Formats: sequence, structure tokens, C-alpha cells
Amino acid sequence: MWIVGVDVGGTTTAAGVVTEGGEVVADVTAPTERSDPGRAVDAIAALIEQVSQRMGRRGTAIGIGVPGPVDTRSGRVGEPVTHVPALAGLAVGPELARRCGLPVFVDNDVNALALGEWMFGAARGATSLVVLAAGTGVGGGIVLDGHLVRGAGFGGELGHTPVKFDGPPCFCGGRGCLAIYASGRGIADAARARIAGEASSRMLAAAGGDPTAITAAMVFRAAAEGDPVAASVVDEACRALGATIGTIVNGLNPEVIVITGGVARSLAPLEARILGAARDHAFARALVATRVAIVPGDKRAGVRGAAALALYETRERTTERRRTAP
Ligand SMILES: [Zn+2]
Repeated sequence: MWIVGVDVGGTTTAAGVVTEGGEVVADVTAPTERSDPGRAVDAIAALIEQVSQRMGRRGTAIGIGVPGPVDTRSGRVGEPVTHVPALAGLAVGPELARRCGLPVFVDNDVNALALGEWMFGAARGATSLVVLAAGTGVGGGIVLDGHLVRGAGFGGELGHTPVKFDGPPCFCGGRGCLAIYASGRGIADAARARIAGEASSRMLAAAGGDPTAITAAMVFRAAAEGDPVAASVVDEACRALGATIGTIVNGLNPEVIVITGGVARSLAPLEARILGAARDHAFARALVATRVAIVPGDKRAGVRGAAALALYETRERTTERRRTAP
């Protein structure tokens, strides 16, 4: 038995064949169709077809993670889908099920990622976990007592936990959110604003003199090399993550918190500082009971997560049918 997992990202979409044990045995990628709603589902269907052909037969189900809110019952993507506007409002699940002739499950990409970490990754075997995925933005996913927490649809949006109540406005409409301080975009924006007019900045040199080319990775590198402006931005990222870990630990006290996503590679060497910042906010005994794992993310983790979503939903719906059977 194998599953097709699809991770729709802001720039790239990856589709892969995943075994029941969570191994990605084949994968393909293509640029995401970001703006044309008429072609968005075609592009996903083409990747599913391509990866299925490589295996020589069809899978048993399809899981899809998208970077936005999803009505998981109907398989329809909600709004806003900031990074892939073409998907907003589309009935992605039913449309792909009709074309592929397989059950299709669609959810927010970080919910899928949380299921992947729980079923196959750093939180395997845990009964509760929280995932924070720091990439362009910061996504979150919560599994409690073996169930994904969706609430009324926005459950898990921990990237918009306020860490500074009088902080700057966030693109979500809120203020002082974790995402402003710990997302790739937020870190690069903060560095850019603070070096304005400083022609000798190490970060500006790394970006070839073009401030718009500064990336979060450059900021972390400059901080490690002793650049004081970069160090101040990185310090805020660590403290913002520490404050959010404090909120999660005091509020849910999960067995595991996984910090992943594109920024996690730069965060891994700072683990002690992030945990130190968490100690400023979390109950000491609660924090001791929660393991924090920083796991650098990649496209394959997204594909594996989408497949985990399909396995999870298949199991949940079977259980529900049994429970409601006469
Ligand atoms: Zn926000």
C-alpha cells in the first residue's frame, strides 16, 4: 500500500509516493501555479499523474497540504491563501478525487506536517505534540491525545501568537505576532530596516549590495560572525520563540514541541538560547516534561506529512463509521 502526498508551497509544489511506514520512495517537483485559478488544480493533477506513472500503478489515497485554511470536510480551500492566491475558494479535494478516482484529503500544510512528525518523525510515538514551522511565515500544528486540533478551522495558528502586545502590525491584521520576529520574511525585513543607510553592513555585502536580496540565512550567518545589528535581530527571534514555547508549555504541556521549516537549520545551533528564553516564561516543571526538537525541514517532510494526513483521515473516518453504524 502506498499514498501520494502533495505539498503545495509558495514557490514549488512537490508530489511523492510514500509507503505506509513514511518512506518517500519517489518524488517530483514543479513551480507552483500561484495566480491562475483555472490552472491550479491541473498543475497538481499533472504532478500526481507524473509520480504515479513512475511507480507504474496508482496509490490508494492522496493527501494534499496547502499553505492556507481548509474546510477539511468538504475539501475546499478557504481564504486567504497569501502565498498561493490561485487556490483560494477552490474545491481542490472533490475535483482531484473526480479526476484521479481516489479518496483525496486536503488540509493546511502545517497540520499535515504535524501529522507527519507524529506518525513518522521527531514526535513518533508521542500522544501530544506541537509543531512550529518557521519558513516564509510561521505555521503551527497541534496533536493532542492522538487527534489533530482544528477547532473551528483555524486551530494551530500559533505563528500569530502575540509575543509583544505593542509590537509592529503583522500581515495577519494582528500586532506583535511570533511570525514578525521568527519567520524568514520577518527576520530579513527587520535586518533590512535596521541597516538602512549603513553602507558598511556585513549583511549588505553578503547580499551583493542589494538590501532586497538579504535573506534570513544571511542574517543568522552575520550574527554568528559578530555583526551587532544581525545579532539583535537573531536575539529577538530566539526570545520570541522562547515566549511562544512558554505559552505552549504552560497551556498544553505537550510531550514534544518540534520546530521545523526552512529557518530551522539556522535555529538548530541556537537551541540552548531558545530554551533559555523559554525558561523565562514556562513553568519549570512543565518545561522539563516537554521535549523540544529542532528539525531542519525540507520538501520531503512536506510530502510525507501530506501522506500522513491521508492515512490519519482514512483511519479517523473508518473509526467514525464504526461508531455511528447501527
Ligand atoms: Zn500575525
